[in-house]
Amino acid sequence: MQKNILIVGAGIAGCSLAYFLANSGWDVTILEGEDDIAQGGSGNPVVAIYPKFMLNDEAYNDFMLKSFTFTTAWVRQLGLYETDYRFDGAIEMLGATYAQKLESKLSAKITGKEKFLSLIDETILKQYSMKSSSSGILFNQGGWVNPLALCSHLIKHSNIKTITYQKIKSIEQSVDQWILKTEDQRIFNSSHVAICNAGSVNQFDLTQHLHLDLFRGQVNWINSKSLQMPRIVVCDEGYLIPMYKDKHFFGATYAMNDFDKNVRTRDTKKNIASIKRIHHDFYNHCLSLQSISGRVSWRASSKDRKPFVGQIFDNQLLKKMRVRELARADHFPWLKNLYIASGFGSRGFTFAPYCSYVLKNLINDNLSQEDKKTLNYTNPERYRLKKMSLKKVASQIFKV
Ligand SMILES: Cc1cc2nc3c(=O)[nH]c(=O)nc-3n(C[C@H](O)[C@H](O)[C@H](O)COP(=O)(O)OP(=O)(O)OC[C@H]3O[C@@H](n4cnc5c(N)ncnc54)[C@H](O)[C@@H]3O)c2cc1C
Repeated sequence: MQKNILIVGAGIAGCSLAYFLANSGWDVTILEGEDDIAQGGSGNPVVAIYPKFMLNDEAYNDFMLKSFTFTTAWVRQLGLYETDYRFDGAIEMLGATYAQKLESKLSAKITGKEKFLSLIDETILKQYSMKSSSSGILFNQGGWVNPLALCSHLIKHSNIKTITYQKIKSIEQSVDQWILKTEDQRIFNSSHVAICNAGSVNQFDLTQHLHLDLFRGQVNWINSKSLQMPRIVVCDEGYLIPMYKDKHFFGATYAMNDFDKNVRTRDTKKNIASIKRIHHDFYNHCLSLQSISGRVSWRASSKDRKPFVGQIFDNQLLKKMRVRELARADHFPWLKNLYIASGFGSRGFTFAPYCSYVLKNLINDNLSQEDKKTLNYTNPERYRLKKMSLKKVASQIFKV
């Protein structure tokens, strides 16, 4: 039987899911509302990929480690042009005490820790042209990627068709098909659907309950300057990416429910201030410029900062069930053949490829133990279950 799936949204989530499914025999059609792929959050000229760990959130750290390890290894072997990505390392600047605590916590978790991370010292600071008093952690596999180059590469497969200018307005179920209607009344049918439309995930009747907050972000860039700059990504309050296409990129601001599409001078100033400790001469140079280019887009985040990846409930079946019936995960009323991958927040280029890979395994009914743990963690129905005082069972969809 031919396997067909429609994917709504052509950012990194939709494009990476299309890639994994096409490579496992699916015919994929991506429907994108804009005039091209990677125009939303995934449309920044360059993005940083490095793991952001927490001192007190073991589950988040596991998810971060799995995602980061998977994604960096995967990007390396995709065959992208060498000018479109680099994993030479990334430094996260942190207070000295915090960095030490985090490093010792991670040492216990990560096998081959020496290859993975180290506390920065004088040698590292000198090597990367940084101020000698800085403290933090160097992640050896961190780096950056050009999102458009990555997304374009992912959908270059004979099983993938991408159709732009198709803003999906509704998703309805008929007997064995999903029917998607666009704002222009065009209709698409398929047995399977995946919704990868970031902050708009709750726009459909079936998904109204999946709330994500939107955070406006602005990045900036300037033409290259003959300063000795760090050759790897450095993150402090903001991040500074090594020179790419003769430009230096830095950012990014973070503001909830701010829908101004214009690049703003006050945000450019914030971005300049956020890299002051990374490179003082570069900071001074930016301050001296009359105008600085930038781009605005939005991150979509859930309240607990975990993405929504997996399936959702059939609202009709759910209405007929008693709360105690839902206390058993094997009774959950899943909607068949409809999948979600949205809400990747500030970490889409670390999380989304890994989550798309896991979702592909769910769709192909071929889950590993690790995949199951991930889907327990990202269950899109966790908030609805929490409201019914069933928070615990939300993370027990699969026995592991
Ligand atoms: C300023 C800024 C800087 C960032 N920096 C980094 C970084 O350095 N590293 C990192 O990992 N992450 C970074 N992020 C986060 C990252 O960009 C996002 O997590 C990621 O792009 C989300 O990918 P996505 O595919 O889920 O969403 P998107 O890229 O937003 O894609 C969703 C797509 O769905 C389409 N769509 C929506 N509704 C419909 C519809 N009804 N019909 C059809 N199509 C629809 C949209 O047009 C869009 O193309 C940054 C984000 C911002 C805003």
